[in-house]
Amino acid sequence: MQMQSFGAAMTVTGSMHLLTLGNKKILVDCGMFQGGDDLEKRNYETFPFDPAELDAVILTHAHLDHVGRLPLLVKRGFGGAVYCTPPTAALAETVLLDSARLQVEGYKQDLRHARRQGKADEEVPPPLYEEADIHRTLALLRPRLEFGKTETVAGIRVTPQRAGHILGSAYLLIESPDGRLLMSGDLGNRESGLQLDFTPPPVVDAVVIETTYANRTHKPWAATLGEFSEALRDSVRSNGKILIPSFAIERAQVILYTLKGLMDAGEVPRIPVFLDSPMATRATNEYFEYGDELIPQVRDALRGGEDPFRPSTLHVVPTSAESQRLNKYDGPAIIMAGNGMMTGGRIQHHLKHNLWKPSTNLIIVSYQSPTSLGGKIVAGAESVRIMGEDIAVRAKVHTIGGFSAHADQDDLLAFLSTTGNPHVWLVHGEVGVMAEFVPVLAGKGLKGDIMPDHQTVDLLGPGFKDGKPDGLVIPAAPRDVAKAEGGE
Ligand SMILES: [Zn+2]
Repeated sequence: MQMQSFGAAMTVTGSMHLLTLGNKKILVDCGMFQGGDDLEKRNYETFPFDPAELDAVILTHAHLDHVGRLPLLVKRGFGGAVYCTPPTAALAETVLLDSARLQVEGYKQDLRHARRQGKADEEVPPPLYEEADIHRTLALLRPRLEFGKTETVAGIRVTPQRAGHILGSAYLLIESPDGRLLMSGDLGNRESGLQLDFTPPPVVDAVVIETTYANRTHKPWAATLGEFSEALRDSVRSNGKILIPSFAIERAQVILYTLKGLMDAGEVPRIPVFLDSPMATRATNEYFEYGDELIPQVRDALRGGEDPFRPSTLHVVPTSAESQRLNKYDGPAIIMAGNGMMTGGRIQHHLKHNLWKPSTNLIIVSYQSPTSLGGKIVAGAESVRIMGEDIAVRAKVHTIGGFSAHADQDDLLAFLSTTGNPHVWLVHGEVGVMAEFVPVLAGKGLKGDIMPDHQTVDLLGPGFKDGKPDGLVIPAAPRDVAKAEGGE
């Protein structure tokens, strides 16, 4: 039972794990690196295996950092089946079409810049893929995975279970003649969100587990709501804008649902809410479609014909031109826009027009890679460069980790509490965070190892001394950066 990780190994983004089980090769997730140029240039690396030789691909969920390089895999020769749950297939279509559009737009912009600098067109890297590649990819999706039902994938028994992270998200029980393995995908935060809690897993021999938040505990939900409400009231008092950079899937719906609840309860004033993210609007439609999957209060509201994601003051902003017009809008208002780490998208022009004003509140509800624009703001930068201009950071910056869609340390330990005595392999975390989690696992009698990048490991083998591969230098775990979502 061997595994090589080509993403989300010693980092939080780009999930891609190659399992070799007997003579079968199965790729679990095929994600994009997100969160600043240094990480994102890894998307251009060639695959360190022949895509045509894979027997199958399984997707745990539809976040871009778990599906974003799938069209590239297809472009480079993969033509087999891609297994996932039906909601994951639906969301993957939205996510991948948006990704292709951004790729092509980014390429055209880089080309214009390069030409003005007198460079040759060939110096600009082409888009990773285009819309035609997405359609070829979507044709390979087999949305046959159902929670609790065993499916045979390339001759291997695979049982998906509810992971509680986003709509359709699964963790996988993989049974081979060598042993039983759990691949966690991303696990949900049991205290917040719209998803039912993850299903307690069975006893296994090895676990590959995400560790985004493995060194911390989320604030209780009541405190999170209090902090969020206070930031909203403060903006109304100072007549300022409230900017919420938001990922389109799950976080946007959680924020809309929370805003509606707070407004209906009279906890916060009914100020305008602008949803400035066409992708979030499309993703919300899938939450309607698969409403039976959601927590009872949301499911029942949907069955009763209500829209739990629509505060009475909601305005959907379809076009970029309308988005630009918001810059002239006077008075307090909530603007939700992508992308979540502020490295691109409509949030950038809102930041440019509002970040320098002390009356603005910037509410950060998701993971910010330290190298991203969001990461720099959270770390206390006094000025940041946005769309070619230096902008002073005078806004009040709130980081509210309780909205995270990711498990915290307590959730991760609860997940592992029913798995017996497996060998635990840590992925999808910053190295410093994982290094703090290894001794916590040891305290529970579990052998934990940091999964190395690219290196082949025997998941049932002895692992590493002190939980880390030889020669690994461990940086201190960052504590001052809002964390939640690996990339998306
Ligand atoms: Zn995720």
